[in-house]
Amino acid sequence: VIEIGQPEHSVVTTCAYCGVGCAFKAEMRGEEVVRMVPYKDGKANRGHSCVKGRFAWGYTNHKERILKPMIRERIEDPWREVSWDEAFSFAAARMRGIQKKYGRDAIGGITSSRCTNEETYLVQKLIRAGFGNNNVDTCARVCHSPTGYGLATTFGTSAGTQDFDSVEDTDVVVVIGANPASAHPVFASRLKKRLRQGAKLIVIDPRRTEMVESPHVKALHLPLMPGTNVAVMTALAHVIVTEGLVDGAFVRERCDWSEFEEWAAFVAQPQNSPEATAILTGVDPNDLREAARTYATGGNGAIYYGLGVTEHSQGSTTVIAIANLAMATGNIGRPGVGVNPLRGQNNVQGSCDMGSFPHELPGYRHISGDAVRDQFEALWNVKLNPEPGLRIPNMFDAAVEGTFMGIYVQGEDILQSDPNTSHVVAALSAMECVIVHDLFLNETANYAHVFLPGSSFLEKDGTFTNAERRIQRVRKVMTPKNGMADWEVTIGLAKAMGFEMKYSHPSEIMDEIAALTPTFAGVSYAKLDELGSVQWPCNDKAPEGTPVMHIDGFVRGKGKFVVTEYVATDERTGPRYPLLLTTGRILSQYNVGAQTRRTENVVWHSEDRLEIHPHDAEQRGVRDGDWVRLKSRAGETTLRAEITDRVAPGVVYTTFHHPDTQANVITTDYSDWATNCPEYKVTAVQVSPSNGP
Ligand code: SF4
Repeated sequence: VIEIGQPEHSVVTTCAYCGVGCAFKAEMRGEEVVRMVPYKDGKANRGHSCVKGRFAWGYTNHKERILKPMIRERIEDPWREVSWDEAFSFAAARMRGIQKKYGRDAIGGITSSRCTNEETYLVQKLIRAGFGNNNVDTCARVCHSPTGYGLATTFGTSAGTQDFDSVEDTDVVVVIGANPASAHPVFASRLKKRLRQGAKLIVIDPRRTEMVESPHVKALHLPLMPGTNVAVMTALAHVIVTEGLVDGAFVRERCDWSEFEEWAAFVAQPQNSPEATAILTGVDPNDLREAARTYATGGNGAIYYGLGVTEHSQGSTTVIAIANLAMATGNIGRPGVGVNPLRGQNNVQGSCDMGSFPHELPGYRHISGDAVRDQFEALWNVKLNPEPGLRIPNMFDAAVEGTFMGIYVQGEDILQSDPNTSHVVAALSAMECVIVHDLFLNETANYAHVFLPGSSFLEKDGTFTNAERRIQRVRKVMTPKNGMADWEVTIGLAKAMGFEMKYSHPSEIMDEIAALTPTFAGVSYAKLDELGSVQWPCNDKAPEGTPVMHIDGFVRGKGKFVVTEYVATDERTGPRYPLLLTTGRILSQYNVGAQTRRTENVVWHSEDRLEIHPHDAEQRGVRDGDWVRLKSRAGETTLRAEITDRVAPGVVYTTFHHPDTQANVITTDYSDWATNCPEYKVTAVQVSPSNGP
């Protein structure tokens, strides 16, 4: 840490990395951050933090940050710095020109889970009301969109059921497809504390994660083959149903009984038994039986899951299967239980809440609903299109086909984070106006015509919503270095396009959100300042928010059981690609590393490595630390090998923090059947020795 003297004042704000949402005191000397101190009254973190939030804010001052707007006629041309007004006029003229030439629906935009609720709300408002279509999507498309579908289908709302405090009442913790020790470290500490007090831990993951290896915790680890989540969940359900472990009273009172009966008859079939699915899943049937019995009978059972659940061709099915299990065992509607998605980015929950999906207005209300649209039309003074717009992959397809020609991308490097890189390149190359709004000239900006400099979380006011639905203030601690906070940039672009949005402060945007969104009806900056934070739903019925949901009934009324049949992914291993690649993160890096790699601190020095089992390494003549070539049907890359039995034979694993690794060159374009969330977690690959990149 570079100390620059004693602080003169401090401002409480919220970490902009992961979905835990730790509160910090930014200790300031003038416009400089002296240090970030975890805030003891932060309800999500209670005075704790991890290395990312505490130390990795230096990217705000990084020399590569772009502070002036830039434009260029063609992507082959050099960038030209211009005023904000000229950039807005240039972008607006191009976008309007595209609409004139190709039609109203030929443009759209992508919101960011890194930005505030208010900024996300404004982007979707600009697209729906200013562009006149619903071609808005969010980077959550590639991470937690199956959570939205699965939990809305079964419970009636797209959110985790509990607060983090709930873990203190948990007796059995099931972690599926998540590694909180690396990706959600402050929550992991609370979890481990509870485990040290005697709660039991079941980890369902292809890899022996840090949660399993933790010296003070004894975990039951089910090392399933990547892509078999649904089969494992169904086998657990088989044991619960056939051994009479269902909480019949809960199901009769709270769920649709006939749907339950249909589900129970399905899971009870012999082909769904642990023994029958063992070859497919790779999990010892005895361990599956022990896990099912422990979860169903061990007291309060809570399920936490991550992208190892959602980023699959059956991501939505797995979320539904998890919800089925929780309902069947009565593990919903009180502290200590529940179904809890661990959100990767700081504001995934918020960006979804704010109407970033092409079919949903803020508060998860379908765009086709006349009454809902009426409310928005009255306040926004426009006529809204009732037809759902394009999802991100559909935008790319339409661009290649020549019908989608302009895009506004806020705070996401779609070229690095979306699957099938060559298809994304083809789509961006075909477009006539790509507007990138970001801190750095990212990979997507190579194909952009307009670059609008973004502001960091330290330079703006607003709110983030964490993984437990907790809405917290983000407070400006310094003047935006680029001259404009992101919400002001969107307003500037909208105005140039002829759609005026007038707000003098983000609190006014939140007031509008509250007026239009029943679950946010009781939220205001005054209340957030008074209470520190609130968890939605926050309204007349719950003026101080809702820590635990579905207490007296599900949001949809009766809980819905859905039959979840296992369907193997189309991504198959074979003689040419005999291994399955899956991916994850390390503690000190964040996603593609755009921020953490730009913070001057030795702890960030790392590289993406390929974990490979000793047996698979020996077969290929690969030694620890050797360069290897990793090849899939989609592409290939080179990285160093780490030989470890953390992964099973037949499985390899890497992280994706460094652009050189180009992990998404390897991944295929298979995706979740319901939401198009890419199948990042299962790729058939071959590994061979290499001389290096
Ligand atoms: Fe930030 Fe997440 Fe670390 Fe908390 S746990 S400091 S929110 S990265």
